[in-house]
Amino acid sequence: MSTAMPAAHPFDDDKLREECGVFGVVGVTDASNFVALGLHALQHRGQEAGGIVTHDPDTGFNQQRRMGLVRDNFTSAAMMERLPGTIGIGHVRYSTAGSKGQTAMRDVQPFFGEFSMGGAAIAHNGNITNAMSLRRELIERGSIFQSSSDSECIIHLMARSMGRNIPDRMEEALRKVEGAFSIVAMTRTKLIGCRDPLGVRPLVLGKVGDGWALASETCALDIIGAEFVREIEPGELVVVTEKGVASHFPFRPNRARFCIFEHVYFSRPDSILGGRSVYETRENIGRELAKENPVDADLVCPVPDSGTPAAIGYSLESGIPYAMGIIRNQYMGRTFIEPTESIRNMGVRLKLNVNRALIKGKRVILVDDSVVRGTTSRKIKEMILDAGAAEVHFRIASPPTQWPCFYGVDTPQREKLLAATMTEDEMRDHLGVDSLKFISLNGLYRAVGETKGRDPNAPAYCDACFSGEYPVAPSDMIEQGFQAKTAAE
Ligand code: SF4
Repeated sequence: MSTAMPAAHPFDDDKLREECGVFGVVGVTDASNFVALGLHALQHRGQEAGGIVTHDPDTGFNQQRRMGLVRDNFTSAAMMERLPGTIGIGHVRYSTAGSKGQTAMRDVQPFFGEFSMGGAAIAHNGNITNAMSLRRELIERGSIFQSSSDSECIIHLMARSMGRNIPDRMEEALRKVEGAFSIVAMTRTKLIGCRDPLGVRPLVLGKVGDGWALASETCALDIIGAEFVREIEPGELVVVTEKGVASHFPFRPNRARFCIFEHVYFSRPDSILGGRSVYETRENIGRELAKENPVDADLVCPVPDSGTPAAIGYSLESGIPYAMGIIRNQYMGRTFIEPTESIRNMGVRLKLNVNRALIKGKRVILVDDSVVRGTTSRKIKEMILDAGAAEVHFRIASPPTQWPCFYGVDTPQREKLLAATMTEDEMRDHLGVDSLKFISLNGLYRAVGETKGRDPNAPAYCDACFSGEYPVAPSDMIEQGFQAKTAAE
């Protein structure tokens, strides 16, 4: 078992990154095996660390947390023997290498707290936007924090609550928390799931044999053979035991604002979100993109893998043939050798290669899911031109990413976002492509099923990274000097 940190890829910083995936199960034999499989299916939501907590009547709570991938840490029989029990939860985590520093072991979830009525473990996907002020207050009142994670606030708030049982304490704690949270927690006998009042991050409920499962995405239910029952509602807290599911709505009702970027990029294409196949939604995005931004060309090629369904949609709508113009090296995992400077300079070539025979002399439309810093897009364009393409047209399956996300997605600071500093034409010139076009925000809304587009008075989704309109004020960041959108912008 390795505890070494998998090296971040040289071009990892050019995508927005979901920071966590959560999973839990109750009422099954060997819960840890189910949790490990569920986390494996959610690995795209976080690759740097993972952890599992289980409870067994004989051994009590058992916890294992590791740096690295689920498949490298939670597959051996010896590891699973250390995690006995019929109830368990788990968490996968991504954290940036660089500005925020590498993940510290103490930040790896699930977190565990011992209360007067027994222990509880908690795994959190999202980001608490008032964590700094909560933490300050809690420390002043005597709390001793073990980690630098915002999620730990929930445990301390629960410790201070006068609630009679763990779910009551969790309700009380979460009422003080602002921002985005999809939580899976457990006591000795209860699995608890909760989504913030806006339902920014996903959480689904499944049935597996006589037991139940909670997961960030339905793909994690599929892997354990669980039947998808329903999504946890925004603002809902469920307490799940072997006997069934009890539902509560402890927060003031609010209009849901699910993260629209889950549809574009974060979630796996084989997951179902809001009753819609993510794959089909992405294909629709490609169709809308083609309707809004047609161009004469010979081939539509995806930037693999996340641009693929949108490229297929673009091709179907435009009638321009789809082709695999860029091939991804499937075996270039995150456990590749430590990137030295010379390897770093190879950049995107480590992972992607151009299919020269196909590209030579062709006018190519490249479909990608987003442009963040633009560094990868530039390198891909160079590779395509080196291979002899006659023209390169970028089509992007999301609107320009102009604002950072404060709800559980790792985003560069605003000034590092290409679209925050340049117009579309300036970006086109900067990337050195023949044309560059993004789907409009209205087009994206249409593609996710809002036939009338975005209602500016009551948007159905969180789209703050495109619009700058944050559904929950990022109070910690504003305190640190973040300039929210002005009326003139
Ligand atoms: S800001 Fe963007 S990435 Fe973050 S939750 Fe909202 S839509 Fe999703």
